[in-house]
Amino acid sequence: MDDQLLQHMNIQILTDVKEWRRAHPRSTYVEIEDEVHKRMMHLEARLLQAVASESPSREWGRGSGSDAALCPHCTMPLQARGKHKRTVQGNGGESVTLNRMYGTCPTCRGGFFPPG
Ligand SMILES: [Zn+2]
Repeated sequence: MDDQLLQHMNIQILTDVKEWRRAHPRSTYVEIEDEVHKRMMHLEARLLQAVASESPSREWGRGSGSDAALCPHCTMPLQARGKHKRTVQGNGGESVTLNRMYGTCPTCRGGFFPPG
């Protein structure tokens, strides 16, 4: 995980909020809360992305030495289709992009991102 980047973001948020406060000296508590919240949601999304990317998704399929993931519908082994970007919507509405193994089912023709 890029600790330095996250630390830098923390400092950036602090500086941003202070600057915003200087530019809006008469802002209400609710407005300040809103500004802080917006920035924290953004940090949360980046943090989630960093932590989730840290555990590399398990390689599987031909040549990986690992059993293929199974189709969640018919439990057939999935055919590995390499890594694809998967965008996940976080609680706060920020989206996080992960690089995950993707597979297709030879039986039901669906495509899946197996967990892990
Ligand atoms: Zn299937």
